[in-house]
Amino acid sequence: MSRAKVIVAVVDGLTPSMLEAAIERGSAPTLAALAERGRYGRAVSVFPSLTPVCLSSLATGAFPDVHEIPHLVWHSRRENRLVEYGSSFGAVRAAGIGRTLRDTMVNMNAEHLGKNAVTLFEALEDAGLVTACVNFTAYRGRVQHRSPVPLLGTVRGPRRFFFYNVFESDETGAPLSWKNRAAGSIDAYAAAVGRWLVTRDGFDFLVFYLSDYDWASHALGPDAAFDVLERCDAAIGALADAAGGLDELLERYAVVVLADHGQSRVHSVVRLEERFASVPGALVTASNRAGQVYRLEGCSLDAAELAMLLDSDRSVDVTLWREGGVAVARRDGEELRFAPGDAGWELSGDPAVLDHPDGLRRAWTAVANPNAGDLLVSPVAGVEFADLAGNGHLDGGSHGSLLTADSEVPVITVGIGGEVASIADVAPLVLDHFGVAQPPYTREPARVG
Ligand SMILES: [Zn+2]
Repeated sequence: MSRAKVIVAVVDGLTPSMLEAAIERGSAPTLAALAERGRYGRAVSVFPSLTPVCLSSLATGAFPDVHEIPHLVWHSRRENRLVEYGSSFGAVRAAGIGRTLRDTMVNMNAEHLGKNAVTLFEALEDAGLVTACVNFTAYRGRVQHRSPVPLLGTVRGPRRFFFYNVFESDETGAPLSWKNRAAGSIDAYAAAVGRWLVTRDGFDFLVFYLSDYDWASHALGPDAAFDVLERCDAAIGALADAAGGLDELLERYAVVVLADHGQSRVHSVVRLEERFASVPGALVTASNRAGQVYRLEGCSLDAAELAMLLDSDRSVDVTLWREGGVAVARRDGEELRFAPGDAGWELSGDPAVLDHPDGLRRAWTAVANPNAGDLLVSPVAGVEFADLAGNGHLDGGSHGSLLTADSEVPVITVGIGGEVASIADVAPLVLDHFGVAQPPYTREPARVG
Protein backbone atom coordinates (compact mmCIF):
# COMPACT_ATOMS: atom_id res chain seq x y z
CA MET A 1 0.00 0.00 0.00
CA SER A 2 1.23 3.45 -0.90
CA ARG A 3 2.25 5.77 1.92
CA ALA A 4 2.56 8.93 -0.14
CA LYS A 5 1.95 12.09 1.79
CA VAL A 6 -1.53 13.57 1.47
CA ILE A 7 -2.96 16.97 0.50
CA VAL A 8 -6.67 17.64 1.03
CA ALA A 9 -7.77 20.80 -0.79
CA VAL A 10 -11.20 22.19 0.15
CA VAL A 11 -12.92 24.67 -2.17
CA ASP A 12 -15.69 26.12 -0.01
CA GLY A 13 -19.14 26.04 -1.62
CA LEU A 14 -18.10 24.50 -4.96
CA THR A 15 -20.98 22.59 -6.59
CA PRO A 16 -20.51 19.58 -8.88
CA SER A 17 -22.29 21.37 -11.74
CA MET A 18 -19.96 24.37 -11.45
CA LEU A 19 -16.82 22.25 -11.42
CA GLU A 20 -18.06 20.26 -14.41
CA ALA A 21 -18.93 23.46 -16.33
CA ALA A 22 -15.53 25.00 -15.56
CA ILE A 23 -13.71 21.87 -16.71
CA GLU A 24 -15.84 21.87 -19.88
CA ARG A 25 -14.92 25.53 -20.55
CA GLY A 26 -11.24 24.91 -19.93
CA SER A 27 -11.16 27.40 -17.04
CA ALA A 28 -10.07 24.87 -14.38
CA PRO A 29 -7.03 23.20 -15.99
CA THR A 30 -5.44 21.92 -12.77
CA LEU A 31 -8.69 20.39 -11.47
CA ALA A 32 -9.34 18.89 -14.92
CA ALA A 33 -5.88 17.30 -14.96
CA LEU A 34 -6.37 15.94 -11.43
CA ALA A 35 -9.79 14.47 -12.33
CA GLU A 36 -8.23 12.87 -15.42
CA ARG A 37 -5.44 11.22 -13.41
CA GLY A 38 -7.71 10.09 -10.57
CA ARG A 39 -11.37 9.62 -9.85
CA TYR A 40 -14.17 12.12 -9.97
CA GLY A 41 -17.47 11.68 -8.13
CA ARG A 42 -20.02 13.33 -5.89
CA ALA A 43 -20.43 13.15 -2.13
CA VAL A 44 -23.03 14.36 0.35
CA SER A 45 -22.45 16.97 3.05
CA VAL A 46 -23.71 16.88 6.62
CA PHE A 47 -26.70 18.81 8.06
CA PRO A 48 -26.89 21.73 8.51
CA SER A 49 -24.73 22.12 5.38
CA LEU A 50 -22.92 25.14 6.85
CA THR A 51 -19.15 25.58 6.85
CA PRO A 52 -18.27 25.17 10.58
CA VAL A 53 -20.40 21.99 10.75
CA CYS A 54 -18.95 20.62 7.50
CA LEU A 55 -15.28 21.42 8.18
CA SER A 56 -15.60 19.77 11.60
CA SER A 57 -16.84 16.60 9.85
CA LEU A 58 -14.02 16.79 7.30
CA ALA A 59 -11.43 17.14 10.06
CA THR A 60 -12.75 14.40 12.32
CA GLY A 61 -14.79 11.96 10.21
CA ALA A 62 -17.54 12.49 12.77
CA PHE A 63 -21.08 13.65 12.17
CA PRO A 64 -22.44 16.55 14.26
CA ASP A 65 -23.72 14.20 17.00
CA VAL A 66 -20.07 13.51 17.85
CA HIS A 67 -18.24 16.70 16.82
CA GLU A 68 -20.96 18.84 18.46
CA ILE A 69 -20.70 21.90 16.18
CA PRO A 70 -24.38 22.55 15.35
CA HIS A 71 -24.62 25.67 13.17
CA LEU A 72 -23.07 29.02 12.26
CA VAL A 73 -25.03 30.52 15.14
CA TRP A 74 -26.27 28.64 18.21
CA HIS A 75 -27.16 28.92 21.86
CA SER A 76 -24.72 27.49 24.39
CA ARG A 77 -26.80 25.90 27.17
CA ARG A 78 -23.69 25.52 29.31
CA GLU A 79 -22.77 29.20 29.17
CA ASN A 80 -26.30 30.46 28.53
CA ARG A 81 -25.20 32.66 25.65
CA LEU A 82 -25.21 32.97 21.89
CA VAL A 83 -22.28 31.68 19.82
CA GLU A 84 -21.87 33.27 16.40
CA TYR A 85 -19.15 32.19 13.95
CA GLY A 86 -19.61 35.06 11.50
CA SER A 87 -22.85 34.84 9.48
CA SER A 88 -22.42 38.43 8.26
CA PHE A 89 -20.67 41.56 9.45
CA GLY A 90 -23.96 42.79 10.94
CA ALA A 91 -24.43 39.51 12.79
CA VAL A 92 -20.85 39.71 14.07
CA ARG A 93 -21.51 43.21 15.36
CA ALA A 94 -24.80 42.11 16.97
CA ALA A 95 -23.07 39.22 18.77
CA GLY A 96 -20.05 41.38 19.67
CA ILE A 97 -16.97 41.60 17.46
CA GLY A 98 -14.41 40.53 20.05
CA ARG A 99 -16.57 37.63 21.22
CA THR A 100 -17.22 36.42 17.64
CA LEU A 101 -13.53 36.57 16.76
CA ARG A 102 -12.68 34.56 19.86
CA ASP A 103 -15.49 32.04 19.26
CA THR A 104 -14.49 31.53 15.62
CA MET A 105 -10.72 31.57 15.93
CA VAL A 106 -10.23 30.01 19.37
CA ASN A 107 -13.30 28.61 21.15
CA MET A 108 -14.70 26.56 18.27
CA ASN A 109 -11.66 24.29 18.55
CA ALA A 110 -10.68 24.78 22.18
CA GLU A 111 -14.17 24.59 23.71
CA HIS A 112 -16.95 23.66 21.29
CA LEU A 113 -15.50 20.84 19.17
CA GLY A 114 -16.55 17.59 20.91
CA LYS A 115 -13.99 15.97 23.18
CA ASN A 116 -14.81 12.51 21.74
CA ALA A 117 -14.05 13.66 18.21
CA VAL A 118 -10.47 13.17 17.01
CA THR A 119 -9.11 15.46 14.31
CA LEU A 120 -6.74 14.21 11.63
CA PHE A 121 -4.17 16.63 13.04
CA GLU A 122 -4.39 14.96 16.45
CA ALA A 123 -4.45 11.35 15.19
CA LEU A 124 -1.62 11.78 12.69
CA GLU A 125 0.63 13.82 14.99
CA ASP A 126 0.15 11.10 17.64
CA ALA A 127 1.41 8.63 15.02
CA GLY A 128 4.56 10.72 14.55
CA LEU A 129 3.55 12.46 11.32
CA VAL A 130 3.83 16.18 10.59
CA THR A 131 0.47 17.83 9.90
CA ALA A 132 -0.25 21.25 8.43
CA CYS A 133 -3.22 23.41 7.56
CA VAL A 134 -3.83 26.73 5.89
CA ASN A 135 -6.88 28.84 6.86
CA PHE A 136 -8.86 25.73 7.89
CA THR A 137 -11.18 26.54 10.79
CA ALA A 138 -11.41 23.02 12.34
CA TYR A 139 -7.73 22.90 13.19
CA ARG A 140 -7.50 21.37 16.69
CA GLY A 141 -4.12 19.67 17.08
CA ARG A 142 -1.32 18.89 19.52
CA VAL A 143 1.07 21.80 19.13
CA GLN A 144 0.70 25.08 20.98
CA HIS A 145 0.74 28.29 18.94
CA ARG A 146 0.66 31.85 20.20
CA SER A 147 -1.03 34.62 18.22
CA PRO A 148 0.46 38.10 17.99
CA VAL A 149 -3.16 39.25 18.53
CA PRO A 150 -3.40 39.46 22.37
CA LEU A 151 -7.17 38.72 22.42
CA LEU A 152 -6.54 35.30 20.86
CA GLY A 153 -3.73 34.08 23.09
CA THR A 154 -2.60 30.48 22.48
CA VAL A 155 -4.33 27.58 20.74
CA ARG A 156 -3.45 23.98 19.92
CA GLY A 157 -3.15 23.29 16.20
CA PRO A 158 -1.16 21.23 13.71
CA ARG A 159 2.65 21.45 13.76
CA ARG A 160 2.62 23.78 10.75
CA PHE A 161 -0.28 26.11 11.30
CA PHE A 162 -1.29 29.08 9.18
CA PHE A 163 -4.52 30.89 9.90
CA TYR A 164 -5.19 34.24 8.18
CA ASN A 165 -1.96 35.75 9.55
CA VAL A 166 -3.30 35.50 13.12
CA PHE A 167 -1.53 32.20 13.74
CA GLU A 168 1.63 31.41 11.77
CA SER A 169 4.01 28.67 12.84
CA ASP A 170 6.64 29.69 10.29
CA GLU A 171 7.80 32.82 8.53
CA THR A 172 6.73 32.29 4.89
CA GLY A 173 6.69 35.79 3.42
CA ALA A 174 3.03 35.29 2.39
CA PRO A 175 1.09 38.53 1.79
CA LEU A 176 -1.55 39.86 4.21
CA SER A 177 -4.69 37.75 3.90
CA TRP A 178 -7.27 40.45 4.73
CA LYS A 179 -5.90 43.16 2.44
CA ASN A 180 -8.58 42.86 -0.27
CA ARG A 181 -10.92 39.92 -0.05
CA ALA A 182 -12.86 40.79 -3.21
CA ALA A 183 -9.60 40.71 -5.16
CA GLY A 184 -8.78 37.29 -3.75
CA SER A 185 -6.23 38.18 -1.08
CA ILE A 186 -7.32 35.36 1.25
CA ASP A 187 -6.79 32.60 -1.26
CA ALA A 188 -3.62 34.36 -2.46
CA TYR A 189 -2.31 34.07 1.10
CA ALA A 190 -3.26 30.35 1.14
CA ALA A 191 -1.52 29.80 -2.21
CA ALA A 192 1.67 31.52 -1.03
CA VAL A 193 1.78 29.45 2.17
CA GLY A 194 0.96 26.26 0.23
CA ARG A 195 3.75 26.95 -2.22
CA TRP A 196 6.16 27.51 0.68
CA LEU A 197 5.11 24.23 2.34
CA VAL A 198 5.39 22.12 -0.82
CA THR A 199 8.73 23.69 -1.76
CA ARG A 200 10.12 22.50 1.60
CA ASP A 201 8.17 19.22 1.56
CA GLY A 202 7.31 20.45 5.04
CA PHE A 203 4.47 18.09 6.01
CA ASP A 204 3.06 14.57 5.75
CA PHE A 205 -0.54 15.79 5.70
CA LEU A 206 -1.86 19.18 4.61
CA VAL A 207 -5.37 20.66 4.56
CA PHE A 208 -5.38 23.50 2.06
CA TYR A 209 -8.57 25.51 2.45
CA LEU A 210 -9.83 28.05 -0.10
CA SER A 211 -12.74 30.17 1.11
CA ASP A 212 -13.10 32.85 -1.58
CA TYR A 213 -15.30 30.80 -3.92
CA ASP A 214 -18.11 30.47 -1.35
CA TRP A 215 -17.91 34.17 -0.58
CA ALA A 216 -18.28 35.05 -4.28
CA SER A 217 -21.14 32.55 -4.72
CA HIS A 218 -23.08 34.11 -1.87
CA ALA A 219 -22.87 37.44 -3.69
CA LEU A 220 -23.36 36.31 -7.30
CA GLY A 221 -25.44 33.18 -6.84
CA PRO A 222 -24.36 29.59 -7.45
CA ASP A 223 -22.50 28.48 -10.57
CA ALA A 224 -21.56 32.01 -11.65
CA ALA A 225 -18.16 32.90 -10.17
CA PHE A 226 -16.03 31.35 -12.92
CA ASP A 227 -13.22 33.87 -12.39
CA VAL A 228 -12.96 33.02 -8.70
CA LEU A 229 -12.94 29.29 -9.41
CA GLU A 230 -10.18 29.97 -11.92
CA ARG A 231 -8.18 31.59 -9.09
CA CYS A 232 -8.86 28.53 -6.87
CA ASP A 233 -7.61 26.32 -9.68
CA ALA A 234 -4.49 28.47 -9.94
CA ALA A 235 -3.96 28.26 -6.16
CA ILE A 236 -3.97 24.45 -6.38
CA GLY A 237 -1.80 24.80 -9.49
CA ALA A 238 0.68 26.77 -7.36
CA LEU A 239 1.20 23.63 -5.25
CA ALA A 240 2.02 21.70 -8.43
CA ASP A 241 4.39 24.46 -9.61
CA ALA A 242 6.20 24.30 -6.28
CA ALA A 243 6.72 20.56 -6.78
CA GLY A 244 8.04 21.08 -10.33
CA GLY A 245 4.81 20.11 -12.11
CA LEU A 246 1.64 18.11 -11.57
CA ASP A 247 3.28 14.72 -12.17
CA GLU A 248 6.00 15.54 -9.66
CA LEU A 249 3.36 16.70 -7.16
CA LEU A 250 1.47 13.40 -7.56
CA GLU A 251 4.64 11.37 -7.13
CA ARG A 252 5.01 12.84 -3.64
CA TYR A 253 1.42 13.36 -2.59
CA ALA A 254 -1.98 11.74 -2.84
CA VAL A 255 -4.49 14.52 -3.48
CA VAL A 256 -8.14 14.93 -2.52
CA VAL A 257 -10.07 17.97 -3.75
CA LEU A 258 -13.62 18.52 -2.57
CA ALA A 259 -16.12 21.06 -1.30
CA ASP A 260 -17.74 21.22 2.12
CA HIS A 261 -21.29 21.96 0.88
CA GLY A 262 -23.10 23.23 -2.22
CA GLN A 263 -25.03 26.44 -2.86
CA SER A 264 -28.48 27.33 -4.19
CA ARG A 265 -30.17 30.53 -5.40
CA VAL A 266 -32.03 32.73 -2.86
CA HIS A 267 -35.38 34.24 -3.92
CA SER A 268 -36.66 35.34 -0.54
CA VAL A 269 -35.26 36.03 2.93
CA VAL A 270 -37.53 35.15 5.84
CA ARG A 271 -37.24 36.05 9.53
CA LEU A 272 -37.83 32.75 11.31
CA GLU A 273 -37.98 34.67 14.64
CA GLU A 274 -41.32 36.18 13.61
CA ARG A 275 -42.94 32.73 13.53
CA PHE A 276 -42.17 32.27 17.22
CA ALA A 277 -42.57 35.87 18.43
CA SER A 278 -45.64 34.99 20.51
CA VAL A 279 -44.00 32.00 22.23
CA PRO A 280 -42.22 32.99 25.45
CA GLY A 281 -38.90 31.23 25.95
CA ALA A 282 -38.50 30.19 22.30
CA LEU A 283 -35.09 31.39 21.08
CA VAL A 284 -34.45 31.25 17.33
CA THR A 285 -30.93 31.06 15.92
CA ALA A 286 -30.97 31.14 12.14
CA SER A 287 -28.60 31.96 9.31
CA ASN A 288 -28.36 31.02 5.66
CA ARG A 289 -30.63 28.04 4.90
CA ALA A 290 -31.01 26.44 8.32
CA GLY A 291 -32.76 27.46 11.51
CA GLN A 292 -32.94 26.22 15.07
CA VAL A 293 -35.34 26.89 17.94
CA TYR A 294 -34.13 26.49 21.53
CA ARG A 295 -36.63 26.00 24.34
CA LEU A 296 -35.33 28.25 27.12
CA GLU A 297 -36.73 28.57 30.61
CA GLY A 298 -40.45 29.28 30.57
CA CYS A 299 -41.07 27.92 27.08
CA SER A 300 -44.65 26.70 27.16
CA LEU A 301 -44.55 24.58 23.99
CA ASP A 302 -42.69 21.32 23.42
CA ALA A 303 -40.73 20.68 20.21
CA ALA A 304 -43.65 18.96 18.45
CA GLU A 305 -45.92 21.93 19.24
CA LEU A 306 -43.24 24.36 18.00
CA ALA A 307 -43.03 22.33 14.77
CA MET A 308 -46.78 22.53 14.27
CA LEU A 309 -46.59 26.32 14.29
CA LEU A 310 -44.74 25.96 10.96
CA ASP A 311 -47.25 23.55 9.37
CA SER A 312 -48.78 26.08 7.02
CA ASP A 313 -45.52 27.95 6.44
CA ARG A 314 -44.58 27.65 2.77
CA SER A 315 -40.97 28.60 3.42
CA VAL A 316 -40.42 25.41 5.45
CA ASP A 317 -39.50 22.04 3.94
CA VAL A 318 -38.86 19.84 6.99
CA THR A 319 -38.79 20.27 10.75
CA LEU A 320 -36.83 17.86 12.96
CA TRP A 321 -36.74 17.12 16.66
CA ARG A 322 -36.06 14.38 19.11
CA GLU A 323 -38.39 12.49 21.42
CA GLY A 324 -36.16 10.43 23.69
CA GLY A 325 -34.35 7.84 21.57
CA VAL A 326 -36.41 8.59 18.46
CA ALA A 327 -36.12 11.44 15.94
CA VAL A 328 -39.15 12.93 14.26
CA ALA A 329 -39.24 14.62 10.86
CA ARG A 330 -42.35 16.54 9.83
CA ARG A 331 -43.31 17.85 6.40
CA ASP A 332 -46.75 19.08 5.30
CA GLY A 333 -48.28 17.59 8.43
CA GLU A 334 -46.87 14.12 7.66
CA GLU A 335 -44.41 12.60 10.10
CA LEU A 336 -41.60 10.08 9.97
CA ARG A 337 -40.22 8.67 13.23
CA PHE A 338 -36.83 7.04 13.00
CA ALA A 339 -33.90 5.73 15.00
CA PRO A 340 -30.82 3.68 14.21
CA GLY A 341 -31.30 0.03 15.24
CA ASP A 342 -29.06 -3.04 15.21
CA ALA A 343 -30.23 -4.01 11.73
CA GLY A 344 -30.37 -0.57 10.15
CA TRP A 345 -32.88 2.25 10.52
CA GLU A 346 -36.14 1.63 12.34
CA LEU A 347 -38.85 3.67 10.67
CA SER A 348 -42.47 4.42 11.27
CA GLY A 349 -44.58 6.85 9.28
CA ASP A 350 -44.03 8.27 5.82
CA PRO A 351 -40.45 7.70 4.52
CA ALA A 352 -41.02 10.35 1.81
CA VAL A 353 -40.76 13.03 4.53
CA LEU A 354 -36.96 12.57 4.47
CA ASP A 355 -36.24 11.74 0.82
CA HIS A 356 -33.15 13.99 0.89
CA PRO A 357 -29.62 12.75 0.12
CA ASP A 358 -28.38 10.66 3.07
CA GLY A 359 -31.46 12.12 4.78
CA LEU A 360 -31.90 9.78 7.74
CA ARG A 361 -28.28 9.80 8.86
CA ARG A 362 -27.87 13.57 8.39
CA ALA A 363 -31.13 14.37 10.17
CA TRP A 364 -30.44 11.94 13.02
CA THR A 365 -26.92 13.18 13.70
CA ALA A 366 -28.11 16.82 13.57
CA VAL A 367 -30.84 16.36 16.19
CA ALA A 368 -28.57 14.11 18.29
CA ASN A 369 -26.02 16.94 18.59
CA PRO A 370 -26.11 18.07 22.26
CA ASN A 371 -25.62 21.69 21.16
CA ALA A 372 -28.42 21.67 18.57
CA GLY A 373 -31.70 23.48 19.06
CA ASP A 374 -34.76 21.58 20.29
CA LEU A 375 -36.29 22.07 16.84
CA LEU A 376 -34.36 22.19 13.56
CA VAL A 377 -35.82 23.81 10.45
CA SER A 378 -34.75 23.10 6.87
CA PRO A 379 -36.33 25.51 4.34
CA VAL A 380 -37.66 24.87 0.82
CA ALA A 381 -35.60 25.80 -2.24
CA GLY A 382 -35.13 29.55 -2.73
CA VAL A 383 -35.76 30.56 0.89
CA GLU A 384 -33.11 31.83 3.29
CA PHE A 385 -33.49 32.62 7.00
CA ALA A 386 -32.21 36.08 7.97
CA ASP A 387 -29.35 36.13 10.48
CA LEU A 388 -29.09 37.98 13.82
CA ALA A 389 -28.80 41.32 12.05
CA GLY A 390 -31.61 40.56 9.58
CA ASN A 391 -29.11 39.98 6.76
CA GLY A 392 -29.40 37.45 3.96
CA HIS A 393 -28.23 36.91 0.39
CA LEU A 394 -31.31 37.92 -1.62
CA ASP A 395 -30.77 37.13 -5.35
CA GLY A 396 -27.43 35.59 -4.44
CA GLY A 397 -26.54 32.13 -3.18
CA SER A 398 -26.82 30.29 0.11
CA HIS A 399 -26.74 26.82 1.65
CA GLY A 400 -27.53 24.94 4.85
CA SER A 401 -30.59 22.81 4.05
CA LEU A 402 -31.08 19.08 3.53
CA LEU A 403 -31.88 19.61 -0.18
CA THR A 404 -29.56 18.28 -2.88
CA ALA A 405 -28.32 21.62 -4.22
CA ASP A 406 -27.00 22.66 -0.79
CA SER A 407 -25.77 19.19 0.05
CA GLU A 408 -23.98 17.68 -2.92
CA VAL A 409 -20.27 18.31 -3.46
CA PRO A 410 -17.70 17.28 -6.08
CA VAL A 411 -14.82 15.02 -5.03
CA ILE A 412 -11.58 14.31 -6.90
CA THR A 413 -9.23 11.68 -5.46
CA VAL A 414 -5.79 10.88 -6.88
CA GLY A 415 -3.48 8.26 -5.39
CA ILE A 416 -5.71 7.37 -2.45
CA GLY A 417 -8.12 4.42 -2.41
CA GLY A 418 -11.66 4.12 -1.10
CA GLU A 419 -15.06 5.65 -1.65
CA VAL A 420 -16.01 9.17 -0.55
CA ALA A 421 -19.81 9.07 -0.42
CA SER A 422 -20.03 11.52 2.48
CA ILE A 423 -17.67 14.35 3.38
CA ALA A 424 -17.24 12.46 6.69
CA ASP A 425 -15.54 9.64 4.72
CA VAL A 426 -12.42 11.71 4.02
CA ALA A 427 -10.88 11.46 7.51
CA PRO A 428 -11.18 7.63 7.77
CA LEU A 429 -9.78 7.36 4.24
CA VAL A 430 -6.72 9.42 5.21
CA LEU A 431 -6.18 7.43 8.43
CA ASP A 432 -6.37 4.15 6.46
CA HIS A 433 -3.94 5.54 3.92
CA PHE A 434 -1.37 6.18 6.64
CA GLY A 435 -2.22 2.94 8.47
CA VAL A 436 -3.33 4.86 11.56
CA ALA A 437 -6.10 3.46 13.81
CA GLN A 438 -9.63 4.83 13.44
CA PRO A 439 -11.52 6.52 16.27
CA PRO A 440 -14.42 4.20 17.24
CA TYR A 441 -17.19 6.42 15.85
CA THR A 442 -16.10 6.13 12.21
CA ARG A 443 -16.66 2.38 12.22
CA GLU A 444 -19.83 2.20 14.28
CA PRO A 445 -23.36 3.14 13.28
CA ALA A 446 -24.90 6.19 14.96
CA ARG A 447 -26.19 5.09 18.35
CA VAL A 448 -29.40 5.83 20.16
CA GLY A 449 -28.47 8.23 22.94
ZN1 LIG B 1 -21.19 29.96 2.76
